[in-house]
Amino acid sequence: TKVPPKSAEERLMVAVRIRPLKSDEPQRALYAASKKSVVIEDDTDKNDVLRHKRGADKQYTFDVVFSENTSQEEVYDVTTSSLVKDVLNGYNATVFAYGATGAGKTYTMVGDPSAPGIMVRALNDLFNAVKDKQDQYSVTMSYLELYNEQIRDLLNPSSGYLELREDSRGRNIQVAGLSEISTTSTNEVMLLLQKGNKARTVEPTAINKTSSRSHALLSVTVKHTIPIDKKNHLRMRIKQGRLFMIDLAGSERANKTKSRGKRLQEGAHINRSLLALGNCINALSEGARYVNFRDSKLTRLLKEALSGNCRTVMIAHVSPSLTQKEESRNTLIYADRANNI
Ligand code: ADP
Ligand code: MG
Repeated sequence: TKVPPKSAEERLMVAVRIRPLKSDEPQRALYAASKKSVVIEDDTDKNDVLRHKRGADKQYTFDVVFSENTSQEEVYDVTTSSLVKDVLNGYNATVFAYGATGAGKTYTMVGDPSAPGIMVRALNDLFNAVKDKQDQYSVTMSYLELYNEQIRDLLNPSSGYLELREDSRGRNIQVAGLSEISTTSTNEVMLLLQKGNKARTVEPTAINKTSSRSHALLSVTVKHTIPIDKKNHLRMRIKQGRLFMIDLAGSERANKTKSRGKRLQEGAHINRSLLALGNCINALSEGARYVNFRDSKLTRLLKEALSGNCRTVMIAHVSPSLTQKEESRNTLIYADRANNI
């Protein structure tokens, strides 16, 4: 079997996706300057003809930049299709969608029936790869929400809050009672994910009525049973690979939503897990020996997938609109920090 690459550069890919401008967003503030760079325009005075400070435009460089007309298929092919192969070979891998609310995270991860996203395509490829080998492989999925440091089953939302369990050494982390299901139909997967997304906790805030404060984690487990002894079928070895695909909570800062009370606490939790995640990815990208996964439930859940010889892809999402300029800048800075090896 092929071993996934080990070097820090090959283990982490940081991509940026720019969504299209909407009809009610007349002014643009950023654009893809190349296949690897994004520019945020300086708008100190757009109409000043004497202005010659174009040098104030800021350019950021990443592994890949997807401009606004990039197809769902291309985003999947470039970021995730090779991770699917790793997982079939028994390795773990993770794809994150990061960005402010409205920047396009859920579109990239789930999409719609006419333009299915990464989660749907990856599940489809995994189920298809093992379709004719049901005796050797099993593929199952689970979909959970992490909201306010609490876990809910998005495939069975009525089951209430679930507990994170681990052994005394902080290994073998599991969510007790989480449903694991198997399906081979793309349509069914799309429906399950859309239904799951409807069950995500969404509450109004001052800035955006549909601001999503929850992380959604799709986990797909591939179990490969390999006979050791042709004569004795009871002797076998199990190889397991796991792919996490995560639609992170909106990264906009709590202070901007003018939050009070409950909201503020939620904001703090989200910042805690996003900050902890950023720290972990940063440490991993630097090849650090000690990485602290304990700071949030998100990083505890992902410990197994982020450490060791696993690949990670971060897709940072930005809106090109002038009204979202500060959020876009914060997102690029977060992604740039993860990228800085
Ligand atoms: P988020 O999950 O980050 O809050 P969404 O994925 O819900 O953002 O995107 C906000 C809106 O923009 C949705 O109506 C979505 O369909 C649209 N959108 C986002 N990205 C794209 C894209 N790449 N192409 C077309 N429409 C997009
Ligand atoms: Mg969303």
